[in-house]
Amino acid sequence: MRIAIIDAWRERWRLSPVFQPERIASRADYAAPRRAQMLEQRRTYVSNLTPADQQPFSVPGYCQPCRRQVMLQVDFAYAYPVDGRLQPNWRERLVCPHCRLNSRIRATLHLFERFVGARRRDPLYLSEQNTPLYRWMADR
Ligand SMILES: [Zn+2]
Repeated sequence: MRIAIIDAWRERWRLSPVFQPERIASRADYAAPRRAQMLEQRRTYVSNLTPADQQPFSVPGYCQPCRRQVMLQVDFAYAYPVDGRLQPNWRERLVCPHCRLNSRIRATLHLFERFVGARRRDPLYLSEQNTPLYRWMADR
């Protein structure tokens, strides 16, 4: 039975439209020229998404925990300068309007579901109870 559940998860994630994680084995792998080029392209992409007026804005995206396309909300809390221009903190402030999870937690849940393979009745300890993460987990 557990194998069937894991196979079903693998199929679901194979069909996932976003976030294809890649294993990085060393700092040298991380600093490889092709990765540096990819990171530069990503920096340019997100910089182009960022309005100059530093007002909150939305970008289209896919929320894996909600399993749907959404307009992710972005603001300038915890923003930092990149090449002299203030950039949103994309890790903390790319928030789904439905589940209220930020990109860091959504990515964590994505990897958790994909690789841990926990079942609904498996015990799980969360060190919080008043967060969107807790509410999302409690609903499952
Ligand atoms: Zn969501």
